[in-house]
Amino acid sequence: MSASLSIARDLLHSVFGFGGFRPGQEEIVQAVLDGENVLAVMPTGSGKSLCYQLPALVRPGLTLVVSPLIALMRDQVRALGAAGVAAGSLNSSNDPTENARVLSLLRRRELRLLYLAPERLARPDTVEMLCESDVRLMAIDEAHCVSQWGHDFRPEYLTLGSLARQIGGALQTMALTATADAPTRGDIVDRLFDAPPRTFVRSFDRPNLRLAFKPKEHSTRQVLSFAREHAGDSGIVYCASRRKVEELAQALAAAGCKALPYHAGLDKRVRDANQDAFQQEDGVVMTATVAFGMGIDKPDVRFVCHADLPANVEAYYQEIGRAGRDGLAADTLTLYGLSDMQLRRLQIEQSESSDERKRVERQRLNALLALAEAPRCRRQTLLAYFGEPSEPCGNCDLCQEGVERFDGTIEAQKAMSAILRTGERFGMEHIVSILVGDLTENVQKYNHDRLPTFGVGKDRRNVEWRSIFRQISALGLITQDMMEHGRWFVTDEGRRVLKGRNRIELRKDLAASSKGSRREKRGAVPSAAVGSADTTLLAALKALRAKLAQAQKVPAYVVFSDRTLIELATHRPGSARAMREIHGVGDSKLERYGAAFLEIIQHAAR
Ligand code: ADP
Ligand code: ZN
Repeated sequence: MSASLSIARDLLHSVFGFGGFRPGQEEIVQAVLDGENVLAVMPTGSGKSLCYQLPALVRPGLTLVVSPLIALMRDQVRALGAAGVAAGSLNSSNDPTENARVLSLLRRRELRLLYLAPERLARPDTVEMLCESDVRLMAIDEAHCVSQWGHDFRPEYLTLGSLARQIGGALQTMALTATADAPTRGDIVDRLFDAPPRTFVRSFDRPNLRLAFKPKEHSTRQVLSFAREHAGDSGIVYCASRRKVEELAQALAAAGCKALPYHAGLDKRVRDANQDAFQQEDGVVMTATVAFGMGIDKPDVRFVCHADLPANVEAYYQEIGRAGRDGLAADTLTLYGLSDMQLRRLQIEQSESSDERKRVERQRLNALLALAEAPRCRRQTLLAYFGEPSEPCGNCDLCQEGVERFDGTIEAQKAMSAILRTGERFGMEHIVSILVGDLTENVQKYNHDRLPTFGVGKDRRNVEWRSIFRQISALGLITQDMMEHGRWFVTDEGRRVLKGRNRIELRKDLAASSKGSRREKRGAVPSAAVGSADTTLLAALKALRAKLAQAQKVPAYVVFSDRTLIELATHRPGSARAMREIHGVGDSKLERYGAAFLEIIQHAAR
C-alpha cells in the first residue's frame, strides 16, 4: 500500500468514522492520489463523494467540486463541516455571512473543498480567484449532464474542460456519474478530458434494495398497505401526475402517516418546507412527482414506491436508487397497469425528439416493461440490461414468491382473434368485453355479440384478461397505435403465434395470494430493523439526535446515521474510546456529541 493510501485509510476512520472502503472506492482513491485523470461510473449510493473527499484531505491544496445541485452541495458541506472538514460552497442561495466565511477560508488557503455550480465557476472573477488558490483537483459530479443524450443536459457543463485548463494548466480532473449508458460515457470522455481517463465502472447491483412489481388493482389501497408495512420510516411515493400526488398525500395522512406532497405546481415556499421536513425529520413520506429527487442526499430513505409506472428503466433505476443509500435494507414496489404503458408510449411518440432519440426511448421503455413482466429474478433482468451477468438474487418478489407460469398460446390466440375480427379498431376494454361475453352498449351497437369470439374467454375474469393483454403486449404480439385512439393491432410475431407456429408462456398474476408468503432472504443484507438493539434506548437516542439536529438546523442524519444509532443501542459503548469504534463516529463527532450520547446510554436501564 502506498504511503498516501494508508493516510487515506486513517482519515476514513478518523474523519468519517467508517471501518473500511466500500467496493470500488479504494482503487479510485489510489488512482486519484497517483495523479491520474479518472472517470468513475458507480451507482447512486455507492459512495462516489468519498472518492474525491479523501484525496482532498490527504493532499495539500484545494479541490473543486462541480455540481449542478445546490441542495446537494449544501448537504455535503454541512456533513463535511460536522466531520470537522473545512468545506464551503459558493452559490446563489448562500447568505452573505456564508459567502464571507468561504472567501476568507479560501484566502487563508485553509479551505479543502469548494463546491460550485458550473455557472458560478464560469464567471471571470471566480476563475481569476481560483487561479490564485492552489487548485489541485477538479471533481465533476453528475458528469452525465455534459451529454445531450440524457435528460439532464446542462449546456454550462460543456465549458468545464476549458475552465480546467484556464485554472490549472493540466488540472487533474475527475468525472463521476451514476448513468451507465455507453453513449453517455463516450460524451463524458470526449468533452471533459483531453485524453481518455482511467475509467472505473462499478457493478450496478444494489443488493440491499428489495425489488418488487405488482399489477395495479386499486393503487391507493396498494400504496397504503405498502406504506403501512413501513410505518415510521422515511419513504418516497412517486406518482405520474400532480393530482395523484395530492390525493395520495391526503390518503396517507388520513391513515396516520406523516405524508407531504411535492410537485412543481406547489408554491415554492411550500415545496421547500416539505423538502426540508423530509430531509430533517424522521419518518416523513414524500408523495411526489419526479420533480422531487435529483439532489436528494438522504441516506436513510427506507422505501420507494412507484404508484405509477416510471418513464423507463433508467428512470426506474435512478428513482429506486434513492432508497437505502446507507447500505441497509430498503424496500421498493412498482405498480403498473396497461394505461400507464399507454401513457408512456404516447409521451414518447408525441415528444419533439429526433427519430433516433425516440428509438432509444422506446428501447428503454420496453426494457422496463420486460422487467415488469419478467419471468425470473428481477435483479438478474435489470442487471442484464446494464450488461452485467448475475445469479438469482434472493431479494426480489420473484425470487421470494416464485411465479407460476402457464402455456398461454390459446389465450393469446383468443385475444388476437378478437382484435382481428373487429378490424383492429378498438381499445382493450371493448375487446375484453367481447371475450368474456359481456353485452355492453358498444358490443350491441356494433353487433359484436354475433362474432364467433364472443364469450370464448368466459372462463377468465376481466382482470385476468387485462393481465394477458399487458403480457402479450410486452412480448410484442400486439401493439397499439397511439396516434389513433389507442387501437390495438396484431404484429407479425403475433400472427406467427396465431397460426400456431410459436407458443408462448404467460405468468399467472396471483395478486391476491402473495400475502404473507415471503420466503427468507438468502442474501445477507444488513437490516435497518432494530434487531437486538434496545428499542427504548434507540428511541431515546433518536430523540437526542432530533434535538441536536434541530438546534443546529441540520438534518438528523448529519448528526448520526440510523446505522450509528442502531449500533449504539446494540453495543452500548461505555466510554468515548468504545464509542469511537461505532460506525460513523469520527473524532470530530465524538468530541461534539460523544458525551451527550454516552450519558443516555449509561442511564438507560437494561
Ligand atoms: P453517491 O454519490 O455514490 O450516490 P454518496 O457519496 O452520497 O453516494 O454516499 C452514500 C452514503 O454512503 C453516504 O451516506 C456516505 O456517507 C456513505 N459511505 C460512503 N463511503 C462509505 C464507506 N466507505 N463506509 C461506510 N459508509 C460510506
Ligand atoms: Zn431476485
